[in-house]
Amino acid sequence: MTDFQSLGLSEGLLKAIAENGYASPTPIQEKAIPQILQGRDLMGLAQTGTGKTAAFGLPLIDRLLSDNEAAQPKGTRALILAPTRELVNQIAKNLISYLKATPLRVSSVVGGVSINGQIKRLSKGTDILVATPGRLLDLVDRKAVDLGTASYLVLDEADQMLDLGFIHALRRIAGLVRRDRQTLLFSATMPKQIADLARTYLHDPVRVEVAPAGRTADKVTQSVHFMDPKSKTDFLLKQLQSNPDGLSLVFCRTKHGAERLMRKLSQSGIAAGSIHGNKSQNQRDRAIRDLKDGKINVLVATDVAARGIDIPGVSHVFNFELPEVAEAYVHRIGRTARAGADGEAIALCAPEEIGLFRQIEKLIGIDIPVAGGEVPPLSAAASRAKRGGQNRGGNAKQSPKKPAHKRSSKGHNDNAAPKHSRRRRPNNRKNAA
Ligand code: AMP
Repeated sequence: MTDFQSLGLSEGLLKAIAENGYASPTPIQEKAIPQILQGRDLMGLAQTGTGKTAAFGLPLIDRLLSDNEAAQPKGTRALILAPTRELVNQIAKNLISYLKATPLRVSSVVGGVSINGQIKRLSKGTDILVATPGRLLDLVDRKAVDLGTASYLVLDEADQMLDLGFIHALRRIAGLVRRDRQTLLFSATMPKQIADLARTYLHDPVRVEVAPAGRTADKVTQSVHFMDPKSKTDFLLKQLQSNPDGLSLVFCRTKHGAERLMRKLSQSGIAAGSIHGNKSQNQRDRAIRDLKDGKINVLVATDVAARGIDIPGVSHVFNFELPEVAEAYVHRIGRTARAGADGEAIALCAPEEIGLFRQIEKLIGIDIPVAGGEVPPLSAAASRAKRGGQNRGGNAKQSPKKPAHKRSSKGHNDNAAPKHSRRRRPNNRKNAA
């Protein structure tokens, strides 16, 4: 088995790796680290939970140390972009644990919190800046940050950034970073847009893949239960009650649906929290901390809010409502079975969701075992479409009802900043920060 010593990382980093308890590199680390150390651009196809952050973070730190340059005021030597606040915070936290013994500095900027503190922190310059694209451009427009000094650009979860409408922001940011930079792009899936992005912004990249795009984590046991939408809450309750020691993530499509379900679970004696776009950053952080600390053992979440978050020991992922976009299923169930552990992913599928279910099976290339209920005919999904997409399974009633043209068709609309922290943003940046 390859060990970290043979990948070419410096002594100081090997120590930090050992202190983090990493015994040997994960497949993406083994493949990506030597290439990045050699200065190559890289296109990394890897799912969440594969050790991606260290795969780019460790060699990036090594290169910054050997470049031995000083950060310019308002400048950053490396820029890492990620789609959500949670992911940005998590990347920053991991990087800090890797570079504790070095003089390097990491800063992070996300929306939903005061911009003034960020402006102040950036004024001195930083070695690594981790940011969501929307807030970063706000800071660029206020001349609080100068990206022209950045020699490294990392785009993490690029497919999700595109899903969130960040393509124009990414183009603008890429134009501000040094042209002779090293660029690393990571994505869990490989739609055509990502290939186009890689062609435009990467120079002769090595392609590193640890699982074919769209394949689900190998160690996740998957199953589906078909049922009437009204039965979903009781079914979930029974599952949670029969597994009191587990840590579960439950995915809903809308923030209202997630909040309602969390309340119902709490009323039934389950220690549950929720994380979605109506929650402030502090509330989201607290919910994640509560789950990590065992104060709650169920977290009800929407896709964007939960994207990329790393919660060790998640044993079960429940798809209470199936996602509108099949790729989101891969991200959801990637929350369990992280870094080699086992995990279980249970989908609750109402008759009107059968079309979505078949799309997921097509994407991941396997038939998900049926653990309960009658397989509904595909025509059930067609009658859902005829009814105008209402009654979207489970408790996903839109309340109050909005006209169809104002409703998101993607279920990704949960990530808007909470009302009290809203600020003006161009339409193409959908508030993921
Ligand atoms: P990531 O895919 O970067 O979100 O990483 C998922 C989890 O794996 C995080 O908790 C990391 O700390 C952990 N991890 C990363 N690399 C290793 C490794 N080589 N050995 C064990 N755990 C790791």
